[in-house]
Amino acid sequence: MGLKQSFRAAQSWSLGFAFLLFLGSVAQVAAAQTASINIKVDQVGYLPDAPKVAFIAGVGSPARSFSVKRTQDNSVAFEGKLSTAAHDANTGDDVQAADFSGLREPGHYYIDVPGVGRSWNFHIGPNVYERAYKLAMLGFYGQRCGTAVDLGPEFPGYKHPACHLKGEFHSSSGKSGERDNIGGWHDAGDYGRYVVNSGISTGSLLWAWELYGSKLQNIKLHIPESGNRTPDILNEARWNLEWMLKMQDEDGGVWHKQTSTHFSEFVMPEADKLPSEVIGTGSAPYKSTCATADLAAVAAIAARVYKPFDAEFAAKNLDAARKAWLWAEKNPNVTFKNPPGISTGEYGDNNCTDERVWAAAELWRTTGEAAYNDFFLKNYAEFQAKVDSVPAEGWREVGSMGLWTYALANREGADASAVAAIRKSSVEVAKRIAQRTEADPYHVSLVAKDYVWGSNGVAASYGLQLLVANAFSPDAAFVNAAQDNLHYLLGRNTFSLSWVTQLGEHPYRHPHHRPSGADKNEEPWPGLLSGGPNAGRQDAVLAALPKDTPPAKVYADDQGSYASNEIAINWQAALVFLLAGSLR
Ligand SMILES: [Zn+2]
Repeated sequence: MGLKQSFRAAQSWSLGFAFLLFLGSVAQVAAAQTASINIKVDQVGYLPDAPKVAFIAGVGSPARSFSVKRTQDNSVAFEGKLSTAAHDANTGDDVQAADFSGLREPGHYYIDVPGVGRSWNFHIGPNVYERAYKLAMLGFYGQRCGTAVDLGPEFPGYKHPACHLKGEFHSSSGKSGERDNIGGWHDAGDYGRYVVNSGISTGSLLWAWELYGSKLQNIKLHIPESGNRTPDILNEARWNLEWMLKMQDEDGGVWHKQTSTHFSEFVMPEADKLPSEVIGTGSAPYKSTCATADLAAVAAIAARVYKPFDAEFAAKNLDAARKAWLWAEKNPNVTFKNPPGISTGEYGDNNCTDERVWAAAELWRTTGEAAYNDFFLKNYAEFQAKVDSVPAEGWREVGSMGLWTYALANREGADASAVAAIRKSSVEVAKRIAQRTEADPYHVSLVAKDYVWGSNGVAASYGLQLLVANAFSPDAAFVNAAQDNLHYLLGRNTFSLSWVTQLGEHPYRHPHHRPSGADKNEEPWPGLLSGGPNAGRQDAVLAALPKDTPPAKVYADDQGSYASNEIAINWQAALVFLLAGSLR
């Protein structure tokens, strides 16, 4: 992800921030002539049977009433009263709610508030999130490394020739010479590939399949493998999984990352000629425990998920997972720090126990073998309390994934009291999050401390957590709160901005993403989630914002703001999970 614990050197841009804002406002006018950013809606839309709320903020004197009008003929479909204003400390906004849950008729609409204006257009319908899901998955396809990419007729011009076709060992890996390590996804706005972040990202996609496969199996993504009788979400996840497997050494250990020594300029991937190097810890055993345990977890999921479609690939994954597990057992806490001369993302993590708990739980879920169960039961309790806080960086804290998969497994031989305890705490936490979300003036689960690097990923991760709790104990409040976080990401926020590129009438347009910055297309590559507001302000663009800017407003739609506007596969994966769970 963008964070990776080593800040990027500031880049110099040909366009100033003010000019970018000007371009943004031109596009906004072109998209919908009179839309007011003071009205905040999910620009994709709402499910017919779900709660439907828009928010009004930034108006001088409170408005009183609103109507929902049909886009087609401006006829009134619903009328209602606005709530009294509630002050939201995270944005500084006084927020009024427009509740139109009573409107269930599928169609295209906008909200009209006398004295304020009209909203962006949105949709009500049972399939309202299908295109968003497809775009978010296409976002992964666009990140593919080691192959030519072409997003097809819907996005002409969004393509590039094969990139990074040669891998080699860096001296820190303990080996030398060339290494056949092509493939995987570019991690974020840069062209590095990192096993640790690949772990949570690929794992979340495979979980989306395990929980929502019946809804996903027939959705075609128009990727090269489409039509091969394997569901496309699994085809896409496999692209990265194959690369992760190549990062495993013969002894079972897994090298931490494959990147150049430093970040490339803002060029297209095929124009990045910096050597792509397999990077290790710099001394024996060279591989790192967190990366190795993450591979064990993900490959263990793959062993069960791919079995019906490709038994041989499934078996290969199980073998890799077992070998990785044994290596991590022998080397329980080999941590990673950038070796001398390397300045790409570090993804440093000083504790790999949570990764091993996740690996043990997934291996046990797949095999039912006692050794994995024993390790899990000896170590899981430490992570029970952590279910209560969504980690700011999901790639670093994966203990909850371990606990949830153990409780979701429904496997004979499970420790009944452990399962009961995990379910109970997960459901209790989800209840608290759902209550807090409903009470929040913007109906988002984020609290002040959550506006960190990748806060949009934190919002999506709250969604994942709520949906997992819903799998334990179905509760409409959990599903509604999960969708509230989706609404936030798709435009129902203080900026009235959809944080997914090319989605909705008013999406952000200047991601910190090399292909979007370097190509000739006017719009960025589609389907990519922005990192979001970040009160940490670790880049010059954010640092220049007024000191008293509230945390949820520390954001700039500016390519230079890597700390608030970078894309990354880990928060992209949480978005996919949330969208998959919102399909009907
Ligand atoms: Zn590449």
